[in-house]
Amino acid sequence: MKNTFRVNTQVIGLIGHPIKHSYSPFIHNVTIELKKLDYIYLPFDVPAANLKNALKGMVALGIRGFNVTIPHKENILQYMNEVSEEASIIGAVNTIVNDHGKLLGYNTDAHGVHESLLPHRDSILGQEVSVIGSGGAARAVVYTLIRNFKPSNINIINRTEQRADALKRYFKDKMRFEEITTFELFPPDIVETLRKSKLIINTTPVGMYPDIEDSITTLENSFTKEQIVFDLVYNPMQTKLLKIASSAGALTIDGLKMLVFQAAKAFELWTGEELPVEELHKSLQLVLAD
Ligand code: NAP
Repeated sequence: MKNTFRVNTQVIGLIGHPIKHSYSPFIHNVTIELKKLDYIYLPFDVPAANLKNALKGMVALGIRGFNVTIPHKENILQYMNEVSEEASIIGAVNTIVNDHGKLLGYNTDAHGVHESLLPHRDSILGQEVSVIGSGGAARAVVYTLIRNFKPSNINIINRTEQRADALKRYFKDKMRFEEITTFELFPPDIVETLRKSKLIINTTPVGMYPDIEDSITTLENSFTKEQIVFDLVYNPMQTKLLKIASSAGALTIDGLKMLVFQAAKAFELWTGEELPVEELHKSLQLVLAD
Protein backbone atom coordinates (compact mmCIF):
# COMPACT_ATOMS: atom_id res chain seq x y z
CA MET A 1 0.00 0.00 0.00
CA LYS A 2 1.40 3.38 -0.97
CA ASN A 3 2.07 5.96 1.74
CA THR A 4 2.14 9.06 -0.42
CA PHE A 5 -1.36 10.47 0.02
CA ARG A 6 -1.54 14.11 -0.93
CA VAL A 7 -4.01 16.92 -0.26
CA ASN A 8 -5.91 16.07 -3.42
CA THR A 9 -6.02 12.27 -3.00
CA GLN A 10 -9.64 11.33 -3.70
CA VAL A 11 -11.58 9.00 -1.43
CA ILE A 12 -13.87 6.27 -2.70
CA GLY A 13 -15.24 3.44 -0.61
CA LEU A 14 -17.89 1.05 0.53
CA ILE A 15 -20.83 1.56 2.87
CA GLY A 16 -22.77 -1.33 4.34
CA HIS A 17 -23.36 -3.25 7.54
CA PRO A 18 -21.70 -5.67 8.05
CA ILE A 19 -18.85 -5.19 5.56
CA LYS A 20 -16.22 -7.55 6.97
CA HIS A 21 -16.21 -10.06 4.14
CA SER A 22 -16.06 -7.70 1.15
CA TYR A 23 -13.39 -8.11 -1.53
CA SER A 24 -14.07 -4.60 -2.89
CA PRO A 25 -11.25 -2.85 -0.92
CA PHE A 26 -8.80 -5.37 -2.38
CA ILE A 27 -10.10 -5.02 -5.95
CA HIS A 28 -10.10 -1.21 -5.99
CA ASN A 29 -6.91 -0.55 -4.02
CA VAL A 30 -4.93 -3.04 -6.14
CA THR A 31 -6.25 -1.27 -9.25
CA ILE A 32 -5.36 2.16 -7.84
CA GLU A 33 -1.85 0.93 -7.14
CA LEU A 34 -1.41 -0.82 -10.52
CA LYS A 35 -2.58 2.28 -12.37
CA LYS A 36 -0.76 4.71 -10.04
CA LEU A 37 -3.90 6.79 -9.47
CA ASP A 38 -4.37 9.32 -6.72
CA TYR A 39 -7.30 7.61 -4.99
CA ILE A 40 -7.84 5.47 -1.90
CA TYR A 41 -10.74 3.02 -1.32
CA LEU A 42 -11.93 2.71 2.29
CA PRO A 43 -14.60 0.53 3.95
CA PHE A 44 -17.16 2.33 6.14
CA ASP A 45 -19.38 0.28 8.45
CA VAL A 46 -22.65 2.24 8.36
CA PRO A 47 -25.71 0.82 10.16
CA ALA A 48 -29.14 1.58 8.65
CA ALA A 49 -29.88 4.38 11.16
CA ASN A 50 -26.79 6.33 10.00
CA LEU A 51 -27.32 6.11 6.25
CA LYS A 52 -28.72 9.61 5.71
CA ASN A 53 -25.97 11.22 7.80
CA ALA A 54 -23.31 9.15 6.05
CA LEU A 55 -24.47 10.55 2.69
CA LYS A 56 -24.48 14.10 4.07
CA GLY A 57 -20.94 13.43 5.26
CA MET A 58 -19.99 12.12 1.85
CA VAL A 59 -21.06 15.40 0.24
CA ALA A 60 -19.56 17.57 3.00
CA LEU A 61 -16.20 15.79 2.80
CA GLY A 62 -16.13 15.57 -0.99
CA ILE A 63 -15.92 11.76 -1.09
CA ARG A 64 -16.05 10.83 -4.78
CA GLY A 65 -18.09 7.66 -4.60
CA PHE A 66 -19.33 4.66 -2.69
CA ASN A 67 -20.19 1.08 -3.36
CA VAL A 68 -23.36 0.24 -1.48
CA THR A 69 -24.12 -3.11 0.05
CA ILE A 70 -26.54 -4.78 2.48
CA PRO A 71 -28.72 -3.35 4.05
CA HIS A 72 -28.75 -0.04 2.10
CA LYS A 73 -29.15 -1.01 -1.57
CA GLU A 74 -32.89 -0.34 -1.74
CA ASN A 75 -33.37 2.25 0.99
CA ILE A 76 -30.69 4.51 -0.50
CA LEU A 77 -32.73 5.25 -3.65
CA GLN A 78 -34.70 7.99 -1.84
CA TYR A 79 -31.50 10.00 -1.21
CA MET A 80 -30.30 10.01 -4.82
CA ASN A 81 -30.60 13.14 -6.99
CA GLU A 82 -30.58 10.99 -10.12
CA VAL A 83 -30.93 7.26 -10.66
CA SER A 84 -29.81 5.40 -13.79
CA GLU A 85 -32.35 3.43 -15.80
CA GLU A 86 -31.10 0.01 -14.65
CA ALA A 87 -30.99 1.02 -10.95
CA SER A 88 -34.48 2.45 -11.19
CA ILE A 89 -35.95 -0.71 -12.78
CA ILE A 90 -34.01 -3.10 -10.53
CA GLY A 91 -35.01 -0.96 -7.53
CA ALA A 92 -31.52 -1.04 -6.01
CA VAL A 93 -28.36 1.07 -6.10
CA ASN A 94 -24.93 -0.51 -5.56
CA THR A 95 -22.77 2.43 -6.70
CA ILE A 96 -23.03 6.17 -5.99
CA VAL A 97 -21.11 8.93 -7.71
CA ASN A 98 -20.84 12.27 -5.93
CA ASP A 99 -20.92 14.75 -8.81
CA HIS A 100 -20.12 18.04 -7.04
CA GLY A 101 -22.76 17.44 -4.40
CA LYS A 102 -25.26 15.73 -6.71
CA LEU A 103 -25.65 12.04 -5.84
CA LEU A 104 -26.04 9.75 -8.86
CA GLY A 105 -27.15 6.15 -8.25
CA TYR A 106 -26.27 3.16 -10.46
CA ASN A 107 -26.60 -0.61 -10.35
CA THR A 108 -23.39 -2.11 -11.73
CA ASP A 109 -24.48 -5.70 -10.92
CA ALA A 110 -26.48 -5.55 -14.15
CA HIS A 111 -23.28 -4.71 -16.03
CA GLY A 112 -21.52 -7.58 -14.22
CA VAL A 113 -24.19 -10.04 -15.34
CA HIS A 114 -24.14 -8.68 -18.90
CA GLU A 115 -20.35 -8.85 -19.29
CA SER A 116 -20.23 -12.37 -17.80
CA LEU A 117 -22.79 -13.60 -20.35
CA LEU A 118 -21.64 -11.54 -23.34
CA PRO A 119 -19.16 -14.12 -24.77
CA HIS A 120 -22.14 -16.53 -25.04
CA ARG A 121 -24.66 -14.02 -26.41
CA ASP A 122 -25.34 -15.81 -29.69
CA SER A 123 -26.23 -19.10 -28.05
CA ILE A 124 -28.36 -17.49 -25.31
CA LEU A 125 -30.30 -14.97 -27.44
CA GLY A 126 -34.02 -15.78 -27.66
CA GLN A 127 -33.73 -19.03 -25.65
CA GLU A 128 -35.50 -20.36 -22.56
CA VAL A 129 -33.61 -19.62 -19.33
CA SER A 130 -33.97 -20.53 -15.64
CA VAL A 131 -33.16 -18.23 -12.73
CA ILE A 132 -32.91 -19.73 -9.23
CA GLY A 133 -33.75 -17.25 -6.45
CA SER A 134 -35.93 -14.16 -6.15
CA GLY A 135 -33.88 -11.67 -4.14
CA GLY A 136 -31.96 -8.54 -5.13
CA ALA A 137 -29.41 -10.35 -7.29
CA ALA A 138 -32.23 -12.13 -9.16
CA ARG A 139 -33.74 -8.72 -10.03
CA ALA A 140 -30.44 -7.58 -11.59
CA VAL A 141 -30.21 -10.88 -13.49
CA VAL A 142 -33.80 -10.84 -14.78
CA TYR A 143 -33.46 -7.18 -15.82
CA THR A 144 -30.29 -7.96 -17.80
CA LEU A 145 -31.80 -11.04 -19.45
CA ILE A 146 -34.88 -9.14 -20.61
CA ARG A 147 -32.94 -6.04 -21.68
CA ASN A 148 -30.06 -7.76 -23.48
CA PHE A 149 -30.85 -11.40 -24.25
CA LYS A 150 -34.57 -11.37 -25.15
CA PRO A 151 -35.36 -14.81 -23.67
CA SER A 152 -38.35 -16.72 -25.05
CA ASN A 153 -39.27 -17.61 -21.46
CA ILE A 154 -37.79 -17.13 -17.98
CA ASN A 155 -38.41 -19.80 -15.36
CA ILE A 156 -38.06 -18.29 -11.89
CA ILE A 157 -37.45 -21.05 -9.36
CA ASN A 158 -37.45 -20.15 -5.68
CA ARG A 159 -37.61 -21.78 -2.24
CA THR A 160 -40.58 -19.52 -1.41
CA GLU A 161 -42.78 -19.68 -4.49
CA GLN A 162 -44.76 -16.55 -3.52
CA ARG A 163 -41.58 -14.48 -3.84
CA ALA A 164 -41.05 -15.89 -7.34
CA ASP A 165 -44.64 -14.90 -8.17
CA ALA A 166 -43.98 -11.39 -6.80
CA LEU A 167 -40.91 -11.11 -9.06
CA LYS A 168 -42.97 -12.21 -12.04
CA ARG A 169 -45.52 -9.46 -11.33
CA TYR A 170 -42.69 -6.95 -10.77
CA PHE A 171 -41.21 -7.47 -14.25
CA LYS A 172 -44.61 -7.57 -15.91
CA ASP A 173 -45.23 -4.17 -14.37
CA LYS A 174 -41.75 -2.59 -14.82
CA MET A 175 -40.72 -4.00 -18.21
CA ARG A 176 -43.97 -5.27 -19.72
CA PHE A 177 -42.38 -8.73 -19.89
CA GLU A 178 -44.96 -11.49 -19.53
CA GLU A 179 -43.05 -14.66 -20.43
CA ILE A 180 -42.21 -15.73 -16.87
CA THR A 181 -43.17 -19.05 -15.28
CA THR A 182 -42.63 -19.67 -11.56
CA PHE A 183 -41.73 -22.84 -9.67
CA GLU A 184 -40.96 -23.93 -6.15
CA LEU A 185 -37.36 -25.03 -5.65
CA PHE A 186 -37.93 -28.75 -5.23
CA PRO A 187 -35.15 -30.54 -7.14
CA PRO A 188 -36.97 -33.72 -8.32
CA ASP A 189 -39.83 -31.63 -9.78
CA ILE A 190 -37.67 -29.13 -11.66
CA VAL A 191 -35.38 -31.53 -13.53
CA GLU A 192 -37.25 -31.15 -16.84
CA THR A 193 -37.51 -27.36 -16.49
CA LEU A 194 -33.78 -27.11 -15.91
CA ARG A 195 -32.91 -29.58 -18.70
CA LYS A 196 -34.78 -27.60 -21.34
CA SER A 197 -33.18 -24.28 -20.31
CA LYS A 198 -30.29 -23.10 -22.43
CA LEU A 199 -29.00 -21.04 -19.50
CA ILE A 200 -29.35 -21.65 -15.75
CA ILE A 201 -28.34 -18.93 -13.27
CA ASN A 202 -28.08 -19.47 -9.53
CA THR A 203 -28.71 -16.21 -7.66
CA THR A 204 -29.09 -17.80 -4.20
CA PRO A 205 -26.24 -18.02 -1.65
CA VAL A 206 -26.55 -21.84 -1.66
CA GLY A 207 -23.07 -23.40 -1.97
CA MET A 208 -21.25 -20.40 -0.53
CA TYR A 209 -18.40 -20.93 1.97
CA PRO A 210 -18.56 -22.59 4.54
CA ASP A 211 -21.50 -24.65 3.16
CA ILE A 212 -19.55 -25.66 0.07
CA GLU A 213 -21.15 -29.10 -0.27
CA ASP A 214 -24.63 -27.56 -0.78
CA SER A 215 -26.17 -27.11 -4.21
CA ILE A 216 -29.62 -26.02 -5.39
CA THR A 217 -29.76 -29.46 -7.04
CA THR A 218 -27.44 -32.44 -6.84
CA LEU A 219 -29.27 -34.26 -9.65
CA GLU A 220 -26.78 -34.50 -12.51
CA ASN A 221 -29.60 -35.20 -14.98
CA SER A 222 -30.78 -31.59 -14.43
CA PHE A 223 -28.00 -30.56 -16.83
CA THR A 224 -27.02 -31.27 -20.43
CA LYS A 225 -23.90 -30.66 -22.47
CA GLU A 226 -25.70 -27.99 -24.54
CA GLN A 227 -26.20 -25.77 -21.50
CA ILE A 228 -24.52 -22.81 -19.84
CA VAL A 229 -24.65 -22.72 -16.03
CA PHE A 230 -23.75 -19.47 -14.23
CA ASP A 231 -23.37 -19.33 -10.43
CA LEU A 232 -23.29 -15.88 -8.79
CA VAL A 233 -21.60 -17.40 -5.74
CA TYR A 234 -17.86 -16.63 -5.99
CA ASN A 235 -16.49 -18.19 -2.80
CA PRO A 236 -15.63 -20.92 -3.68
CA MET A 237 -15.15 -20.16 -7.35
CA GLN A 238 -15.95 -23.74 -8.38
CA THR A 239 -19.17 -24.32 -6.46
CA LYS A 240 -20.76 -27.73 -6.04
CA LEU A 241 -23.41 -26.66 -8.58
CA LEU A 242 -20.77 -25.79 -11.18
CA LYS A 243 -18.93 -29.06 -10.53
CA ILE A 244 -22.11 -31.12 -11.06
CA ALA A 245 -23.08 -29.14 -14.18
CA SER A 246 -19.55 -29.44 -15.54
CA SER A 247 -19.48 -33.21 -15.07
CA ALA A 248 -22.72 -33.36 -17.11
CA GLY A 249 -20.84 -31.52 -19.89
CA ALA A 250 -22.34 -28.04 -19.40
CA LEU A 251 -20.28 -24.89 -19.90
CA THR A 252 -19.89 -23.04 -16.59
CA ILE A 253 -19.38 -19.39 -15.58
CA ASP A 254 -18.20 -18.48 -12.07
CA GLY A 255 -19.42 -15.55 -9.93
CA LEU A 256 -15.92 -14.10 -9.60
CA LYS A 257 -16.17 -12.76 -13.16
CA MET A 258 -19.33 -10.86 -12.28
CA LEU A 259 -17.74 -9.53 -9.09
CA VAL A 260 -14.83 -8.09 -11.07
CA PHE A 261 -17.01 -6.76 -13.93
CA GLN A 262 -19.40 -4.96 -11.56
CA ALA A 263 -16.38 -3.43 -9.80
CA ALA A 264 -14.92 -2.39 -13.16
CA LYS A 265 -18.04 -0.42 -14.03
CA ALA A 266 -18.08 1.31 -10.63
CA PHE A 267 -14.37 2.16 -10.95
CA GLU A 268 -14.95 3.65 -14.38
CA LEU A 269 -17.88 5.75 -13.08
CA TRP A 270 -15.74 7.22 -10.28
CA THR A 271 -12.39 7.65 -12.02
CA GLY A 272 -13.00 7.42 -15.77
CA GLU A 273 -10.30 4.70 -15.79
CA GLU A 274 -10.48 1.05 -16.80
CA LEU A 275 -9.99 -1.67 -14.21
CA PRO A 276 -7.66 -4.49 -15.38
CA VAL A 277 -10.35 -7.18 -15.34
CA GLU A 278 -8.21 -10.21 -16.28
CA GLU A 279 -5.43 -9.38 -13.81
CA LEU A 280 -7.89 -8.79 -11.00
CA HIS A 281 -9.75 -12.03 -11.76
CA LYS A 282 -6.46 -13.93 -11.49
CA SER A 283 -5.37 -12.15 -8.29
CA LEU A 284 -8.72 -12.88 -6.63
CA GLN A 285 -8.43 -16.56 -7.53
CA LEU A 286 -5.15 -16.62 -5.56
CA VAL A 287 -6.73 -14.76 -2.62
CA LEU A 288 -9.67 -17.20 -2.55
CA ALA A 289 -7.36 -20.21 -2.81
CA ASP A 290 -5.53 -19.12 0.39
P1 NAP B 1 -31.26 -11.99 -1.11
O1 NAP B 1 -31.92 -10.76 -1.60
O2 NAP B 1 -31.21 -12.26 0.36
O3 NAP B 1 -31.98 -13.26 -1.84
C1 NAP B 1 -31.58 -14.55 -1.56
C2 NAP B 1 -32.38 -15.55 -2.41
O4 NAP B 1 -31.80 -16.84 -2.19
C3 NAP B 1 -33.85 -15.65 -2.04
O5 NAP B 1 -34.59 -15.93 -3.19
C4 NAP B 1 -33.87 -16.85 -1.07
O6 NAP B 1 -35.08 -17.59 -1.13
C5 NAP B 1 -32.80 -17.72 -1.67
N1 NAP B 1 -32.18 -18.58 -0.63
C6 NAP B 1 -31.45 -18.16 0.43
N2 NAP B 1 -31.04 -19.24 1.14
C7 NAP B 1 -31.54 -20.33 0.52
C8 NAP B 1 -31.48 -21.73 0.79
N3 NAP B 1 -30.79 -22.22 1.83
N4 NAP B 1 -32.09 -22.57 -0.06
C9 NAP B 1 -32.76 -22.10 -1.13
N5 NAP B 1 -32.87 -20.79 -1.44
C10 NAP B 1 -32.27 -19.91 -0.62
O7 NAP B 1 -29.73 -12.05 -1.59
P2 NAP B 1 -29.12 -11.41 -2.93
O8 NAP B 1 -28.68 -10.02 -2.65
O9 NAP B 1 -30.05 -11.68 -4.05
O10 NAP B 1 -27.75 -12.26 -3.10
C11 NAP B 1 -27.81 -13.64 -3.40
C12 NAP B 1 -26.40 -14.19 -3.69
O11 NAP B 1 -25.86 -13.57 -4.83
C13 NAP B 1 -25.39 -13.97 -2.55
O12 NAP B 1 -24.67 -15.17 -2.37
C14 NAP B 1 -24.47 -12.91 -3.10
O13 NAP B 1 -23.14 -13.03 -2.60
C15 NAP B 1 -24.51 -13.23 -4.58
N6 NAP B 1 -24.12 -12.07 -5.41
C16 NAP B 1 -23.01 -12.18 -6.16
C17 NAP B 1 -22.61 -11.11 -6.93
C18 NAP B 1 -21.37 -11.23 -7.77
O14 NAP B 1 -20.83 -10.20 -8.17
N7 NAP B 1 -20.92 -12.42 -8.07
C19 NAP B 1 -23.35 -9.92 -6.95
C20 NAP B 1 -24.53 -9.86 -6.18
C21 NAP B 1 -24.91 -10.94 -5.40
P3 NAP B 1 -36.40 -17.16 -0.28
O15 NAP B 1 -37.10 -16.15 -1.15
O16 NAP B 1 -37.15 -18.43 -0.12
O17 NAP B 1 -35.90 -16.58 1.02
